[in-house]
Parts: sequence; structure tokens; C-alpha cells
Amino acid sequence: MKTIAVLTSGGDAPGMNAAIRAVVRTACENGVKVYGVVRGYNGLINGDFIEMDLRSVSDIINRGGTILYSARSTEFATEEGMRKAVRTCREKGIEGVVVIGGDGSFRGARDLSERGIPCVGVPGTIDNDIACCDYTIGYDTCLNTIMDMVDRIRDTSESHDRCAVIEVMGRRAGYLALNAGIACGATSILIPEVEVDIEKHVIERMRKTQRTDKKHFIIIVAEGCGVDVHELAKHIQAETGVESRATVLGHTQRGGYPTVKDRVMATRMGNYAVKLLMNNIGNRVVAAQKEDVVDYDIFEALNMTKTIDMNLYNIAHEVSI
Ligand code: ATP
Repeated sequence: MKTIAVLTSGGDAPGMNAAIRAVVRTACENGVKVYGVVRGYNGLINGDFIEMDLRSVSDIINRGGTILYSARSTEFATEEGMRKAVRTCREKGIEGVVVIGGDGSFRGARDLSERGIPCVGVPGTIDNDIACCDYTIGYDTCLNTIMDMVDRIRDTSESHDRCAVIEVMGRRAGYLALNAGIACGATSILIPEVEVDIEKHVIERMRKTQRTDKKHFIIIVAEGCGVDVHELAKHIQAETGVESRATVLGHTQRGGYPTVKDRVMATRMGNYAVKLLMNNIGNRVVAAQKEDVVDYDIFEALNMTKTIDMNLYNIAHEVSI
């Protein structure tokens, strides 16, 4: 392929810029023309393209968010929207597209591939919920951000003998909650993969810990559990007598400068994606498996399932008491 495009889609994630940079630089260094698509699939539909060069991606490796902007495109999910996207790609001579995003974005990439524009997906989402990947771009930064914020909340909870009930992101998955909960020494971690039992998993654990003279507590709740943390804080206070405060970390978890891991992995994955397209290989998803970067057929990748590490969950409950 001699002309490709790159877009970011779905929720932004720190490290997306490092991936864009790697795509653009790898393409330029190998004589491949590369367009940046503005606002995800909307940009493909509307023909919102920027011709990128080596300097278009200067000074972005350290920045969170995405210089190409991101979007959730309802129009693209329609047959007409996809046809328009194919048409604009053909008009620009775009032979392949690197799609940086989550599994929803990969479904879009699959549909575009089926309509004759080969795509390569690069996993960019803080949620780490892509089945074929051990790790996704943005996950490491997000975990570290959560840890930093929970540490701050711990200082004040400890000073006032309070219980902090903290909701973290993750969509339908508990990877962020489980790992951040371990890193922050949470007394309880509620994740969607384990049936929520407030009495057993929160109240009983707190009472047991209170008997060892512990007076402040951290409860981490994954958003995918569907538990209202404000209501949970009231319930905890009524049941245990410990003053309880709820915090929803919200979008603070998405931003910020990416960690070393996210920058390095994003660079490797962006480079890998372009090499696939340069060899006329499309319809693939780039994935991180342990320390390696590999690729999967996009259909196969979307049919895979991923389970939470229950051993890790059990360890968390054994040590945080
Ligand atoms: P994150 O989970 O980090 O937010 P995501 O990529 O999963 O990222 P989604 O909002 O699910 O985010 O998807 C992004 C976009 O991908 C959608 O707005 C839509 O344009 C496209 N998309 C999602 N699902 C499909 C589908 N089944 N077919 C075609 N396009 C889709």
C-alpha cells in the first residue's frame, strides 16, 4: 500500500498520540503517504483528512488525549454511513486504515474491511477490555492515575477515620478496579465479574477489620457493577458507624501524560500496524501478549473472550484485611 490513513475512535486514552506518531513516522520513513482522519469514523464519512508529515506529530508523545480528536459516530454504524466512508477513502486513494480504539471501533474496522477498505486495529482504551490483548494503550496510565488519586483520598480518610467509597471506570470490566484496588490496599473491591454481595464483600469485611482496630477504609467499586457509590456510602455508615464519603473519579482517569509503558507499547503497536498495511495485510488487530506484539484476524479477535484473573481477586481479598 502506498496511501493509508489513521484515526482514533471511541473513548480517548493516554498513549493514543504516541501511537499516531508511530504510524505517521513509520509511514513517512517508508515512503507511504499518510492521512490523519479527524474525529474518528465521522471524519471518514465527511472526508475530514489532514495530510501528515514527520513534523505533524512533533511534541505529542508526551500528551494525553488525541490530536486527531475522537468521536462516537452513530452515522458510521449505518449502511449508508459506511458506504460514504468507503467512497471518501476511494476518492483520496486511501488503501488501508489504522484504527486506534476499543472493541466497538474494531467492529467498525471489521465492517469497513468487509466493504473493501482493509483496516488494522490498534487497541487504545483505558479499560483493558479487549479480549485478544493482555494490555491496551492507556490502561497503564489510567491505573497509575487512579492509584495516585486514591492515595490522596487515603490521606484524608486516615486523618478523619473515614471510609472512602471510590468508583473507577472500566465499562463492563473490572480490570482497572481490581488492579488499582490491590495497588491501593482497598479493603473491598467490587467488580462486575463477581456477583456483588454488599453484606459479605463490604460490611462483614469492614466489621472484621474494625475488630483489629482499623479505623479507615477504602472500597473500590467498578462502574460496571451498577452500584451507586453515594447510596453505598450511606449504607456503610448506617451499618458500621464509620463516616463514609463517596467519590466518583470520572474523567480525571482518562487524561494526563502517558506512562513509559503506554508510550513504548503504543510506539511498537503503531509501527507494527503500518508494517502490516505496507505488506498489503489488512483485517487484523494488533495485540500485546505478555511482552510481545502480535496480530490476529479481526473476526477471530472480536469472537475471543477474556476472563478476569480470579487468583488475583482472591489474593486481593486475602491481603487487604
Ligand atoms: P472505548 O470502549 O474505549 O470507549 P470503543 O471503540 O469500544 O472504545 P465505542 O463507542 O463502542 O468505543 O465505538 C466507537 C465507534 O465505533 C462507534 O461510535 C461506531 O462509530 C463504531 N462502532 C461501534 N460498534 C460498531 C458496529 N457494531 N458496527 C460498526 N461500527 C461500530
